[in-house]
Amino acid sequence: MKELIKFIKKTAVLTNAEIKQLENDYNEIKFLHEKIHSKTDEFLNLRRNDLDLFFKNLIATCDFFTNFIFDKKKLEFSGVYMICAYANNEFILGYIGESKNIYKRWIYHSKKINTKNSSSQRVHKQLNKLLRENKITTNDIYFIKIAEINNLRERIFHETELILKTKSIKLMANNKNILRLKLCPICDGVLNAKIDVIFKNNRLYNIYIIKCKNKQCMYEHIF
Ligand SMILES: [Zn+2]
Repeated sequence: MKELIKFIKKTAVLTNAEIKQLENDYNEIKFLHEKIHSKTDEFLNLRRNDLDLFFKNLIATCDFFTNFIFDKKKLEFSGVYMICAYANNEFILGYIGESKNIYKRWIYHSKKINTKNSSSQRVHKQLNKLLRENKITTNDIYFIKIAEINNLRERIFHETELILKTKSIKLMANNKNILRLKLCPICDGVLNAKIDVIFKNNRLYNIYIIKCKNKQCMYEHIF
């Protein structure tokens, strides 16, 4: 973002009001990025509030299951889901995932959580730690059905959007490398997803972007 600011200062001719607006935009975006990356309590709790709201909206509108009790009939679909640890009215940990068969995937997760089965997956490790330390019970682990999507590319795009929009280095268990598959609609190349900033019409905008890694390919999807 600093490079972008330098670029704007060099090239853009702005009125005082436009500069003021740009500073506001900058501070707002900086604030969001601090909430995502900071480990200090102040910013962490602000991000926790964002995720709390996100969780409550899901619970109000989607099917969800706790205590590892799943309704197979409702879950035999391909789609996007979220696992949340939510206890004592507080968002503790989240994870966004997608699968061709949600029921099978959730059974897999539940076998890796609250058992001595070892797992290298970050979400299992973190949930097991919370359970061991009695910070949560299995009743506080919510499996939420977010969307039914059959098409693989659409499903991964939806998952990626949600991973970027809920990003938090402390409160979300998703790994950094979220797009491993060759899903570019133009060249079938590998895509990259990130949070970025753009300068447009004299304003700064926070954007979420999925972009092709192949430099010859122009494909990008901004949301
Ligand atoms: Zn491409």
